[in-house]
Amino acid sequence: MELESILLPGMDAKRPFLIAGPCSAETEEQVMKTTKELAANGVKILRAGIWKPRTKPGGFEGVGSEGLQWLKKVKQETGMYVSTEVATEKHVYEALKYGVDLLWVGARTTANPFAVQEIADALKGVDIPVLVKNPVNPDLELWIGALERLSNAGLKKLGAIHRGFSSYDKKIYRNLPQWHIPIELKRRYPNLPIICDPSHIGGKRDLVLPLSQQAMDLNFDGLIIETHCNPDEAWSDASQQVTPAKLKEIMDSLVIRDSKQTTEDLSALRKQIDELDDQLLELLAKRMRVSQEIGTFKKEHNMTIVQTNRYDEILTKRINQASEMGMNPEFMRVVLEAIHEESVRQQVDIMNK
Ligand code: PEP
Ligand code: MN
Repeated sequence: MELESILLPGMDAKRPFLIAGPCSAETEEQVMKTTKELAANGVKILRAGIWKPRTKPGGFEGVGSEGLQWLKKVKQETGMYVSTEVATEKHVYEALKYGVDLLWVGARTTANPFAVQEIADALKGVDIPVLVKNPVNPDLELWIGALERLSNAGLKKLGAIHRGFSSYDKKIYRNLPQWHIPIELKRRYPNLPIICDPSHIGGKRDLVLPLSQQAMDLNFDGLIIETHCNPDEAWSDASQQVTPAKLKEIMDSLVIRDSKQTTEDLSALRKQIDELDDQLLELLAKRMRVSQEIGTFKKEHNMTIVQTNRYDEILTKRINQASEMGMNPEFMRVVLEAIHEESVRQQVDIMNK
């Protein structure tokens, strides 16, 4: 892949490369109000979804081309650059017609090679930065494939957006970060800028700062953060959007470490630990849900919660297994007892409901 910088004229190369703005353009007033506050804080690139891919029909599907007029006005009145998501060739033509400066391909679109190829074909001969979000599923090859389609169409100002990966289970994150996947992408394409989207990973505004810090500590190049003048009233993704004032606070409190001073190997290993801890928590939560079902069963059949034989059996079996795996048996006993205790507590709750 032949790559060129995604920086737009006049932007400096200091990390993080920042894109901010609402999930969706809703009204001219909302776009202008949000933008003016962002511009006053020095943000250079606005994001605003014009066409919104929705999981189910009937949701707010974006204002469509009408919103592109507002983006044009943003450029004229504030001098900010504007960006939006494209999913079809029509979107590409419309966005280019209205002077959109940077495009991104959404997660659902990246998962569909036909759609990506259509976008790539529509962009042949156009010199514009295009960022590709990871596909909804954790498939690095599919992500790279989309970038290659654009590269084959002659685009050089390419970048990737890490927005996390869907999973069925209830979770801390809206989309699991699985940081090792963008890290592997960076390892394979060291010159490909990677932008983190903490808004769609976290799904909650409180997670935007910690996730942004994590991305900076992993030496990501930039951030794309959903920002709305009145987040609670947003027509899409209300719970994850922050105000422009909050965005400023987040940016001011980010610690940007010098990548040369951090031992990259160490942070990659720590990342693995974080990733594994996430998985541990997900598994524990899943185990507790099964316990709850057992609790319901026991209640219906008038059985006691603690059945000593079963508990002994679990302890003995797992302590031996842990020992074979090189872990201290006493450590495993403590862990299992703690898990058992919580599981009993949850079943007692169910019994007494
Ligand atoms: C968005 O950026 O608002 C969006 C729809 O994100 P994603 O494609 O990551 O779901
Ligand atoms: Mn969104």
